[in-house]
Amino acid sequence: MTRTFWVGGNWKMNGTTAAIKDLVNTFNAGSTASDVEVVIGAPYVYIPLLADSLRKDWAVAGENCYVKPSGAFTGEISPEMLADVGAKWVILGHSERRNVIGESSEFTAQKVVKALEAGLKVVLCVGELLEEREAGTTQTVVNSQLDAVIKTIKEADWVNIVIAYEPVWAIGTGKVATPDQAQEVHAAIREYLKIAVSSKVAEETRITYGGSVNGKNCKETAQKPDVDGFLVGGASLKPEFIDIVNATQ
Ligand code: PGA
Repeated sequence: MTRTFWVGGNWKMNGTTAAIKDLVNTFNAGSTASDVEVVIGAPYVYIPLLADSLRKDWAVAGENCYVKPSGAFTGEISPEMLADVGAKWVILGHSERRNVIGESSEFTAQKVVKALEAGLKVVLCVGELLEEREAGTTQTVVNSQLDAVIKTIKEADWVNIVIAYEPVWAIGTGKVATPDQAQEVHAAIREYLKIAVSSKVAEETRITYGGSVNGKNCKETAQKPDVDGFLVGGASLKPEFIDIVNATQ
């Protein structure tokens, strides 16, 4: 089977109304291949603006959510609320949630369940720290991050999940993983899905790469057999994001 190429933007805690309007105008005018799925993750407060103004062949994502639909959880946002204001996706388990905010793999897995129940699709981020790579434990770390989710969801849920492999040492550092480094981990993730879930899920799940992807370095990595797209931080705030969307062209 062919896996539809998938490119996500992750704006993180960036943007203003004016800057987003400008960027959306640029994105909406961009000429892109029709066989690529594109999703933009934005801060909660800008999701309605983005959902209203962004081209309709691209979708909008939240960058996090909580595990309850509503209630006394001051400052939290539910997956139902994200869906209500026009998000179709949510990014979960990003390294900044795991390593800056301190969220565990188990909490991330609960969020995945609740997001799927609310009808959202999920970008599930996994990735190792530099010291974990240097200690040779990359795959153990990534598999254990995946395990928390594998244990919690059903096989049929995987059609609504895209995995983003994002080595933490590559995020926002300009130190992009080489195409071979990305391919090696992606292939191992696919093999792990085969063992831990099923051949079907291994074959069909998109595994994307994130970490210092830009308009230039995306092309070669995009050619790797187990790289099914990208999750892009810094470069998704720039017009060059269009070049990443067109990485396979
Ligand atoms: P970066 O971020 O592209 O700025 O490295 C990627 C991400 O955190 O998703």
